[in-house]
Amino acid sequence: MSENTKIEWADHTLNPWEGCTKVGPGCDHCYAEARNARCAGGTAVNWGPGAPRRRTSAANWRKPLAWNAAHAEFYAAHGHRQRVFCASLADVFDNEVDPAWREDLFRLIEATPNLDWLLLTKRIGNAGNMLPVPFDFDRLYPNVWLGATITSQAEANRDIPKLLQLDARVKFLSMEPLLGPVDFAKVPGFNQIGLYLGNWWVIVGGESGAGARPMHPEWVRSIRDQCRNAGVPFLFKQHGEWLAAKPERSVLGKVLVVEGAAPFTDRPKWHHFEDGTHMARVGKRAAGRLLDGLEHNGFPEAK
Ligand code: SF4
Repeated sequence: MSENTKIEWADHTLNPWEGCTKVGPGCDHCYAEARNARCAGGTAVNWGPGAPRRRTSAANWRKPLAWNAAHAEFYAAHGHRQRVFCASLADVFDNEVDPAWREDLFRLIEATPNLDWLLLTKRIGNAGNMLPVPFDFDRLYPNVWLGATITSQAEANRDIPKLLQLDARVKFLSMEPLLGPVDFAKVPGFNQIGLYLGNWWVIVGGESGAGARPMHPEWVRSIRDQCRNAGVPFLFKQHGEWLAAKPERSVLGKVLVVEGAAPFTDRPKWHHFEDGTHMARVGKRAAGRLLDGLEHNGFPEAK
């Protein structure tokens, strides 16, 4: 997963286990793997094919029961149901995880109806065979939101049709790190009618952390507009480390001018897209999460 010390779209994070295997370009700078290595003295012992996954403690597994019990207080304070991001340090549908652990997880999900569980995966193709059978999302699992990570058009074309085949109260796309433009109209079987019929949600974010790749603002604008046209809630999480900017000369030397923000006077690293858009590495905090001067905080309606 990407670096997520504070996840804008969830209230809690629950890691039922830790460990994974990289499956695509979105995993290149996996924060969870780096963290796993740090905790184990330099080697990511729970990463890669054949590496054991580590189930977390019983005390950790009990936390959702406490959140569930505190539902009324949370709702009174925040005005929405608690959203739990499940597995920031793993993938729920990893085929190297003991299936019994996943069964335990779904029992926990059933036992906590006051929580909305956000199951985000880079293995949406596995989900159909790994969800409880039958996956009665209306009666037993109305609190499960199923999401796929999509970083490019190729992944959209491959994985959105798989998500379309599944039932869930909410289906969502986490387009982070967004590594290229995505046109939903090019996805087989995915058109605006499909978007209207389901309860969809789209999150977009640029990459942060060491080695972060720049995200062209036009890629984000395009997805924002496609969501708006289809009536789909859109949440823009962050630009990441890079921001579109103009390099300008002044008496002080190179000054980076960012529209709508104060100029930076340090000498940033630059990336130049072919269309003439210049991106400056200004850092995640300075890049922020405004798109054309606005925050985008769309959420789907919970039950
Ligand atoms: S799927 Fe997520 S947790 Fe697993 S390697 Fe990729 S980014 Fe890391």
